[in-house]
Amino acid sequence: MKVDIVSPGIYTYGSLVLGGILKEKGHAVSITRKLESHGNATLLSLFSTLQLLDPKIIKFVASREDVYVGGPVGMCPEMVLGELDAKAVVIGEGEEIVSDLVMRGPEDLPGVAYKQDGKVIKTPPQPVVSLDHTVPLIPEDLSQQSVRGANIYIETHRGCLGNCTFCQVPRFFGRSIRSRSIENIVAEVQEMKRRGVRRVAVSGGTGSLFGYRSSINRDAFVEMLRSLSSILGKRNLSVPDMRVDLVDEEVLSAIRDYTIGWVFFGLETGSERILRAMRKGVSVKDNREAIQLAKSLGVRVGGSFIVGYPGESRQDFEETMDFAEEAMLDDVFVSIAEPIPGTPLASQTLAVPEDELCLYQEHCGDAKALRLSEAEARCFELMLHAESCKPVPRAITNDLYNTFLAEAKGQGRDIRRVIELLKKYREHV
Ligand code: SF4
Repeated sequence: MKVDIVSPGIYTYGSLVLGGILKEKGHAVSITRKLESHGNATLLSLFSTLQLLDPKIIKFVASREDVYVGGPVGMCPEMVLGELDAKAVVIGEGEEIVSDLVMRGPEDLPGVAYKQDGKVIKTPPQPVVSLDHTVPLIPEDLSQQSVRGANIYIETHRGCLGNCTFCQVPRFFGRSIRSRSIENIVAEVQEMKRRGVRRVAVSGGTGSLFGYRSSINRDAFVEMLRSLSSILGKRNLSVPDMRVDLVDEEVLSAIRDYTIGWVFFGLETGSERILRAMRKGVSVKDNREAIQLAKSLGVRVGGSFIVGYPGESRQDFEETMDFAEEAMLDDVFVSIAEPIPGTPLASQTLAVPEDELCLYQEHCGDAKALRLSEAEARCFELMLHAESCKPVPRAITNDLYNTFLAEAKGQGRDIRRVIELLKKYREHV
């Protein structure tokens, strides 16, 4: 059967894996980042709620009969089937069912949703038994792709011990950790390198959970990094995303010795109160100590912050500004709290009256003339501030200022659109 995989904008790792599985099962598979398909069936990989509102994606799905949607948007299949005229949605992990799905449709399969007589039928998902899989489908131009500097983020394990209210990972993959074998990961990276891929990042929420068995498996983590580094070279390997309470000297030393030598901590806020509200499970002190430890070992530290979380006061935000100043991070990513369907933050956001969310409040402070919402103003202020607090700050040129401003405004606009969509499917998110 001829199956086209469409992964709009970027090749997602999940779409490459499904492509490899379909190919192994004897299907003729192609993959593209463009909205085009000529196959008997189309798998559409969507990672963001906003993609459901993209008129080009809506039109593309409407133009085809056999479009199956997969990816993180499957957390709320009612929303997907309400916005897109798709034949079915994969709920959760699709490896076990993807071949049957394209061959005979969704009926009787686990982990799918589809419409029947106007009603959405859902079947409970079944987690895959083993994460080891055949070599993914590797498109010719994967080496041209850049996602935060890497050609591709590969998956070494699934699940997270954390329970952060804003994050989809524990809801999508669960809170117990399942890991691939090192041999399976190595074979994949060797093949990617042979096909021209140079820069690989290890994803999975928190890299050091690889091989976790009731405690961090440092040996497995170090061995995995050492093996991949020997294939790619340390300059081409990164393992950016880390929880501050899942690193120690051994883990950070391995990151320094076998990768580009960066970590990216999810710091989120400088407010103890908001960290608790986010159920982050760590304190500001934990954040501070992990940053210091990483720096002392020669690891460069980036951090991500979330502003505009429901209930965040100006005082909480000032504490975040102070924390960013003290931390002197090498890189910073700031985002406005996005209520992703299926997360506690989505229900929390819907439960709060709109005028209590700072995304809908007019900013009346120093940046009043910019006509931003309070959430956008905090995002913009923190980006500017963190930039000036870097160990080697860049000059805030007009271009940089305008880039930050556009980013903050764009995030605000996009998240308000997401909230409007959530309201429409209130009982399902
Ligand atoms: S630690 Fe990271 S991956 Fe885990 S739940 Fe929190 S944000 Fe998600």
